Amino acid sequence: MVTYQPGKEKRSICMIRIVDSLAEITRYQDRELLERSLVTTLSELFIDAEFRLYRVMMTEGILELALLAYASKGAIVSEARPRQRHLPPELFEAISDAIISKVVIERRIDESSLINIIYPVYNQRDEIYGVLLHATAQPSFETQRLTYGLLRIYSNYLALLEDSQRDKLTNVFNRETLDAEITKRIISFTQHTHQNHNSIRRRDDEGYYWLCLLDVDHFKNVNDTWGHLYGDEVLILLARLLEAIFRKEDPVFRYGGEEFVVIFRTFHLDDAQSVVERARKSIEKHSFPGVGQVTVSIGAVQIFDQDSATNVVDQADKALYYAKTHGRNCSHFYAELLAAGLIEKSQVQLYTSSVDFF
Ligand code: GH3
Ligand code: MG
Ligand code: MG
Repeated sequence: MVTYQPGKEKRSICMIRIVDSLAEITRYQDRELLERSLVTTLSELFIDAEFRLYRVMMTEGILELALLAYASKGAIVSEARPRQRHLPPELFEAISDAIISKVVIERRIDESSLINIIYPVYNQRDEIYGVLLHATAQPSFETQRLTYGLLRIYSNYLALLEDSQRDKLTNVFNRETLDAEITKRIISFTQHTHQNHNSIRRRDDEGYYWLCLLDVDHFKNVNDTWGHLYGDEVLILLARLLEAIFRKEDPVFRYGGEEFVVIFRTFHLDDAQSVVERARKSIEKHSFPGVGQVTVSIGAVQIFDQDSATNVVDQADKALYYAKTHGRNCSHFYAELLAAGLIEKSQVQLYTSSVDFF
């Protein structure tokens, strides 16, 4: 005989919601979507609370926070220009305390009716990765415990995701992740131009994205002269060098054997050209242990409204080929070569874009 047990039913509905939340959080393989999904899910579960997830960056002992996602009443809230300066200093201090002490901290700021619960999030290597800020008028042990559990699942899942996106030898992003990153920037470019009443000039504070494809010159000689292990070491050091030369937010990818891609942002073509030349010169000047000097040739291109990620890489590849056949240890930009009539248009291009961006 089946009897109706209201308490039991309430508990199982709660369990179903939690299982659904887990399924929702782990549905995405894109980090941004994953982060948004985490805070939305938490905010759906605890409708009277607000959740903000920050990325934590430590630069020479200085703590910086960047808002990744913010949800309230079960939905994402978009903030125009989220910055840490919006945080009251006491809250910023409490966040630092939570990160240093590695424990969850509760703090009420001034006379506010809300209590801030700060959860630090660590990665697999026990390095601080992020911080979740949970603002609620009614903190409860159950809510905290559940939030903490979901955060742990999120960070474990993120670690798995990161692992699958990294190149095993050099630990930079692998080729499989490149298309999605380029596509995101093509979409962002197109959206911003439409938002600006079809004017092709973007907001001044947005800048432009560029992709550069770097190929080690005569790398076969490195392997032949010093052996494959030394060759591997050069690739690992080169990856570290690229990460050091470019900014933290510029993703580095291993595109192939001795080929790397970096996506970066600048406001003008001149700046992009200096960034690329600076990278080339830094590599040229570096002495690789046991091997000595290694140089690279670079092909670069602006990411704008190309038809596809393949198209972008193909354009950079054309410029790279030009660099390889014109002395090596040099850099060239696709649009400049094309305008000077030095190369043919990339075959993948399906239509012509005749707009001047500068
Ligand atoms: P170029 O200046 O024209 O680029 O000459 P290259 O010798 O660099 O180019 P090529 O394509 O002829 O040779 C690339 C070499 O890179 C051949 C391959 O054995 C080596 N290589 C590819 N992947 C790896 C790797 O993971 N480790 C090591 N050690 N060598 C690799
Ligand atoms: Mg090559
Ligand atoms: Mg090469």
